[in-house]
Amino acid sequence: MAALDRLAEALFERRSGIAFTGAGISTESGIPDYRGPNGRWKRMPPPEFRSFLTDPERRLNHWRRRQERYPEMAAKQPNAGHYALAKLQQLGYIQEIVTQNIDGLHQKAGSDPATVIELHGSVHQVRCLDCGRLFDAEPFDREFDGEEPRCPVCGGMVKESTISFGQSLVADDLRAALTLARGAGVMLVVGSSLAVNPAAKVPREAARSGAILSIINNEPTPLDDIADILAHAPAGAALTYLVDALNP
Ligand code: NAD
Ligand code: ZN
Repeated sequence: MAALDRLAEALFERRSGIAFTGAGISTESGIPDYRGPNGRWKRMPPPEFRSFLTDPERRLNHWRRRQERYPEMAAKQPNAGHYALAKLQQLGYIQEIVTQNIDGLHQKAGSDPATVIELHGSVHQVRCLDCGRLFDAEPFDREFDGEEPRCPVCGGMVKESTISFGQSLVADDLRAALTLARGAGVMLVVGSSLAVNPAAKVPREAARSGAILSIINNEPTPLDDIADILAHAPAGAALTYLVDALNP
């Protein structure tokens, strides 16, 4: 595909790529996206942050639902797209991955966790809403006995680290992502409708700062107009194609 050949060339020349991924990179792992044709946005709207803070029953519900749902999420495996991005990192063409996904599949595919910014948090971690500390979610789930868990350090309210409706992103994460965007030679968007703000500022900022903006997505996005390279293609096949082109 001509667009992907141009993208491979851009990555080869600049060697300073940042990937920006969304739910579309994980649909091939069996995790539905929100806004794609089979999206679950309408079936299961995400929880409201305010009701979490004010309603103890809502918080207990959060923990009960994790007991039901987390095992299925934890069993999901990376697909060709996640592995190809990890390979592009290993080859030096992509430095960091900024993701909107909460599934942890980049890390499972071998991307160094230090090179993955999870703008919308992770189902595998729990954050204290008072002291801000992050914890592995496993002991919280294991020890859940129907009572609301608390921060083991400060006793504060804890919640899965995923960002809920009405909850702000972690300022340091957003700042770090925007800094990466400003230094990117190539901004490689994969599987995102680019409809969620402020996350979508990241590719926009990269384009403004001179990066070659490329978008691999099944559907058009609001940034198509300013993109240098557009590939309407499935993420797994497109990223595998790039690896093959760059790693002959
Ligand atoms: P989105 O659902 O808004 O958009 C996904 C886009 O990917 C759509 O345009 C769709 O056409 C495209 N797509 C789907 N499968 C694809 C494939 N195989 N190849 C190429 N393109 C494909 O996703 P978003 O932009 O990430 O925003 C949704 C929000 O919901 C995010 O904030 C994220 O936190 C959350 N979310 C995360 C997950 C996850 O962690 N896997 C899943 C659903 C939603
Ligand atoms: Zn705490």
